[in-house]
Amino acid sequence: MRKKLSLKILSTDFLCIGGGAAGCYAALTFCGQSDGSVIVVEKANIRRSGCLAAGVNALNAYIVPGKTPEDYVAYARADAEGIAREDLLLTMAERLNKTVARVEKLGLTILKDEHGAYATRGNRNIKINGENIKLLLAAAVEREPRITVLNRVNAIDYIIQNGRAVGVFAASAEKEVLYAIYARAVLCATGGAAGLYKPNNPGFSRHKMWYPPFNTGAGYAMGIRAGAEMTTFEMRFVALRCKDTLAPTGTLAQGVGAKQVNALGEEYERRYGFTTALRVYGATRENLEGRGPCCLRTAGITPEQDEDLWRAYLNMAPIQTLKWIESDMPPSARNVEVVGSEPYIVGGHTASGYWVDASRETMIQGLFAAGDVAGGCPQKYVTGAFAEGEIAAESALKYMADEAPQPDLVKIEDFQSRLEKILNRPSADRADRAYKIDKADKINGSESFSPSADDLEAEMQDAMDRYAGGIGSGYAFSEASLRVAAQKINEIEAQTQSLLVPDMRSLLERFELTDRLTVCRSVLAHLAARKETRWRGFAENLDYPDKSDEGLKFVNSRLENGELKVFTREIGRGEKAGGVA
Ligand SMILES: Cc1cc2nc3c(=O)[nH]c(=O)nc-3n(C[C@H](O)[C@H](O)[C@H](O)COP(=O)(O)OP(=O)(O)OC[C@H]3O[C@@H](n4cnc5c(N)ncnc54)[C@H](O)[C@@H]3O)c2cc1C
Repeated sequence: MRKKLSLKILSTDFLCIGGGAAGCYAALTFCGQSDGSVIVVEKANIRRSGCLAAGVNALNAYIVPGKTPEDYVAYARADAEGIAREDLLLTMAERLNKTVARVEKLGLTILKDEHGAYATRGNRNIKINGENIKLLLAAAVEREPRITVLNRVNAIDYIIQNGRAVGVFAASAEKEVLYAIYARAVLCATGGAAGLYKPNNPGFSRHKMWYPPFNTGAGYAMGIRAGAEMTTFEMRFVALRCKDTLAPTGTLAQGVGAKQVNALGEEYERRYGFTTALRVYGATRENLEGRGPCCLRTAGITPEQDEDLWRAYLNMAPIQTLKWIESDMPPSARNVEVVGSEPYIVGGHTASGYWVDASRETMIQGLFAAGDVAGGCPQKYVTGAFAEGEIAAESALKYMADEAPQPDLVKIEDFQSRLEKILNRPSADRADRAYKIDKADKINGSESFSPSADDLEAEMQDAMDRYAGGIGSGYAFSEASLRVAAQKINEIEAQTQSLLVPDMRSLLERFELTDRLTVCRSVLAHLAARKETRWRGFAENLDYPDKSDEGLKFVNSRLENGELKVFTREIGRGEKAGGVA
């Protein structure tokens, strides 16, 4: 039977796309400072969605006593080898501590020292019991009557009228419902992009990765399609993680001062350097040169430190604690092996994402961006995402055009028929049968076979891994290999036309795949455009193995008439920041 989507046209003052750290915080800020209404569109459920789903055990961005926001700017800029916007970093850093006070009021437990001050970890972190951080944030959002949360609703494309963002098309992940949501100001807060590259864990565990697999880069892709300017996609983030569990390692390095050591017991970090990228590079090189496996040296820590670590990981990555307990090998008995993750695009750790001004407005009028989806401002983490959500909400309040946008019924009908066409492809009737045929049939070609989104996703990840600097190629690539990757991404994209989409869940998976492919294309173009190796460890350009003075520029891109145009912008300071080079 032909599938028909029922249509819901909604309107609001402020639309938050993504109900993660930045989206929830922005929604609360907007309500706190106005009488306006807010809609939060969230593809999962705000109680356990995004990066905070599993909890965290520290707030990584905090101005500790004796330090200033300017110190934070200097640190983040140096760690990014100069590719960062000081205006964005400073406006964020100035608000970090205020956001901490606010979440503490919501009920977050922040650990205190013997004098009653926040317990710090290193120079910029404070320790929390953050297992419930997302639940607290979600509860505050749900208590606010002027916020409507649409859970299990996946944003697909912006609605743009006269060059201005006025809303979003979104589809339910469960019911046959299409939403056209109009707003006087729109915020994108959909997080970064995971799953572009083949992950560490193969097969059945493929979706077990450090960054949430549901953050598929939808916000980047929507922006790219709408012609927004993007920056620094070539600065991929590779996380140094505990082997197998992919649990974060900062708790070991900063919590108990564990040093990286190779199989010979040498502390090798000094040989490479101490930026986030070089820490990954050190471990990768030591392994390649036969001095691996590399570990964080925990053997010999005290029983109290063992307990601290168990507790800390229960707050954030319980699987690591379970591994220690199950193997009867506490961290004090055995060093923790570390590995580099597959590359992610994450504007909360690096500078990738939307090109925004200090008010967090993107280059599309009325469209704001905050958190991991926004570029130019690395080392944001949780509190930085909150701070950017707050700035964006305040800016949206100032921006809101007097007239609420009017729904364009022709545009809505067009979009609806586009989705219904995908859902009613002739072969969709054979979907169940095609899913059931066994692998042998597929290989023999005895049944007509449509690839699944899962098959194409694996192909995409393989192409990116082999030819665009994934784990399998030691994060290295060349111009020639990037060309192969681009060709393969185009071929996979063509195959998405024949995907079977029998229900709303498959529709969501189809968009997840096409969004990832869109982001892959931009990543490839950016990698090719940076003719140097700046962040050794995150990306190694074999044609240009050194850093160059010429490279001290932002690489930006924008889709124009179907072509991705790549250009550079100056680093600059003050008013000159971001001028076209
Ligand atoms: C495993 C892990 C551990 C971390 N640990 C720490 C830590 O200890 N301390 C620290 O300070 N920082 C930590 N961070 C970083 C920090 O959590 C993130 O930088 C921050 O939460 C990002 O916030 P965000 O709002 O940008 O993204 P998220 O919080 O991930 O929110 C994005 C939201 O958008 C939704 N979404 C995505 N696509 C769509 C779509 N198409 N339609 C609708 N909704 C969509 C997602 O479901 C999600 O809810 C950690 C990150 C990870 C991944």
